[in-house]
Amino acid sequence: MKQKKPGEYLKQIIARDYQEDYISKKELNKLLTDIDKDLYAEEQDVSVYDSASSATKANSLEFLAQSAIELVDFKSIEDIYKYTADKLYHLLDKKAIITVVDYHLEKNYWQMKQVRGIEKLSNFSSRFGFDLTNMTGQTETPFLNKLKKGQLTELDFDVPSLTNGKISRYIGSQFKKLFSLDKLFCVPFKKNTNILGNISIFPKKGYENFNASLIEAFVGQVSNFVEILNQKRNLQEEEEKYRTIFETSPDPICITDINNKLVKVNQVFLSLTNYSEDELIGNDPAELGVFYITKGSNNVQSNIVNYETQLRTKTGQLKDILLSTQEITIEQQPHILSFIKDITSIREHERKILKLENRYKTIVTHQPEGAIFLFDIDKNFMTAAGQALELLNIAENSEEKIPLQNTFPFELQNNISTICEEILQGNKMVRTIEYKQNYFSVWGVPVKDQNNKISEGLIYFVNISPLKEKENQLKKALEKAEESDRLKSVFLTNISHEVRTPMNGIIGFTEMLKTNTLTDEEYYEYLNIIEKSSARLMKLVNNLVDISLIQAKEVQLKTMEFNLNEKLKYLLNQYSSDIDKNAVTLNLNTPLEDSESCIASDHTLLEKILINLLDNAVKYTNEGEITYGYTIKGDTLEFFVSDTGIGINQETKDIIFDYFRQEDSSFNRQYEGAGLGLSICSGYVKMLNGEIWVESTPKKGSTFYFTIEYKKCKNQTS
Ligand code: ADP
Repeated sequence: MKQKKPGEYLKQIIARDYQEDYISKKELNKLLTDIDKDLYAEEQDVSVYDSASSATKANSLEFLAQSAIELVDFKSIEDIYKYTADKLYHLLDKKAIITVVDYHLEKNYWQMKQVRGIEKLSNFSSRFGFDLTNMTGQTETPFLNKLKKGQLTELDFDVPSLTNGKISRYIGSQFKKLFSLDKLFCVPFKKNTNILGNISIFPKKGYENFNASLIEAFVGQVSNFVEILNQKRNLQEEEEKYRTIFETSPDPICITDINNKLVKVNQVFLSLTNYSEDELIGNDPAELGVFYITKGSNNVQSNIVNYETQLRTKTGQLKDILLSTQEITIEQQPHILSFIKDITSIREHERKILKLENRYKTIVTHQPEGAIFLFDIDKNFMTAAGQALELLNIAENSEEKIPLQNTFPFELQNNISTICEEILQGNKMVRTIEYKQNYFSVWGVPVKDQNNKISEGLIYFVNISPLKEKENQLKKALEKAEESDRLKSVFLTNISHEVRTPMNGIIGFTEMLKTNTLTDEEYYEYLNIIEKSSARLMKLVNNLVDISLIQAKEVQLKTMEFNLNEKLKYLLNQYSSDIDKNAVTLNLNTPLEDSESCIASDHTLLEKILINLLDNAVKYTNEGEITYGYTIKGDTLEFFVSDTGIGINQETKDIIFDYFRQEDSSFNRQYEGAGLGLSICSGYVKMLNGEIWVESTPKKGSTFYFTIEYKKCKNQTS
């Protein structure tokens, strides 16, 4: 009959043990018999250590444990397990069963890793492992507690807590019998306080040379290897990590030693500096003129130093860099690890932005009549610039977030709010705003971000008040020109009328004088008419000459001393004959005594002014009285010509002093005159440093006033 492989039996048993918690004695005995048959069937491959006698081996145990550190280069924990199992097996002269077990306590699982003494069992167990389910909650059991102490521990071979299932316990006792085992020693493998696994030693009955303390020393050494191995592995991992960072970093990195010599640089560093590794390694980067590394840090928290500097490439190009240096220890020597960030393009961009900003600020700030405002998507004020801000009483910046409209004077706020809304809706707009007699042309545009979305708004104010002022002046000038043009036509018509009327009189009546049928009365009447017409014509010609001289500034001021009262009385005589004495009375007012009325002035101009005013008074007054004269007001003589004539409208009061202006400038005027008299008066008064004005009530009369300097004659004391 073909023998079943022991492993398969064991598999079955374990399976049943789990499922039914039962195995028949018969089945177990069969399994054990199979195992027994296999036992020592093969010679185990342990020859490499198989040389000395067991006694020698035991005595040199310590030595061997130590020398193992040099002899064996453990690559993994598996190596250590194998080494330990082999070593112990031979040291104990193959008279003990050695098991090395790996614990996975977190998974409640342990696995036989190495077995010496029953090679077959090793095959089975390494394939299936043993479940620690039954040991759950038994971490406080004497077995684990003893293991945790880390010493070689002698345990009852048949401890129920070792394996809790009844089958397992049975297996244990059968093993004991079968292999003539007497004792069980366990030594844990530990990493710090964590138990990684254990070594169990089952010396066979009657084994004389078993030396527990040497074994303990040996296992202790081996445990150290585990520790060293772990440290080595951690170190390797760290090194690997560091190497990866160094090589894959997108930023240049270099390491310098205590003498500032470069010991390591990465590829990116080489690309940045344009140097080859050979040119850099072993050299001081400062001596090469690449850059300086500042050592040390005042920061107690970390030894990292960050600073900005410049780097010069092999080709002489200058780059802005951000250096982050840190002291590190390599092979017990202090070194500096420097991380470099090439910020050349960032700085270039910053410089460009700054330049643009300055340009924009210069334009805006020096725009004398303007102001610019930026606001965000919520209509909040961002910034403002320009000289018109002062005019609008607005600050350039605001600490808090406030709506743009609130920065404006109250009367403009509604307007600004509407403008902002329109702009944020994507509309460009232009409008004119008036504030405190200043006119602003306001235009606004939305500002878009890189995604073409409106992100801000811009409003530009231009103070157009000076332009507006000029516009108004031009408008006025145009109106004036048009008016002058109209007046010129009226004037020409008036003049022709003014010339033709007396001329007709002169020609007509001269003709009539030629007839012989005239009575003496008629003869004198006609002569009189001819004389008056000639005088009227003469007056017109004189006025035209005067006005053209005034306009050409050809009039010479001739100041001389004369008696004012006499001059005024002379005029009284002249006009008394002209007026209709029944209807109008003519009065003169001279507050100064005749003897004291000597003054210095241009009497010709003064007379001409008075004549023009008196002419008008006579012309526009049909009844009542005409009073003229002067009053003394300090250093000024205030003349007046007052009448009870037709008066002047309020609206026309100001224009009658202009050239050719008459209250009634229509072609069918009631009163004769070319509209020159008052403008001549005005011109002369100005020359005499005085003023001229009128007070008048229509239908009641007018009073014309003008002033001249009151300069007494030199020899007149009072
Ligand atoms: P005119 O030759 O038309 O009188 P003036 O320059 O002397 O020209 O006067 C201008 C206008 O002023 C007159 O046409 C008249 O309408 C008004 N005016 C001047 N003086 C008087 C006055 N004393 N009473 C009423 N209106 C007057």
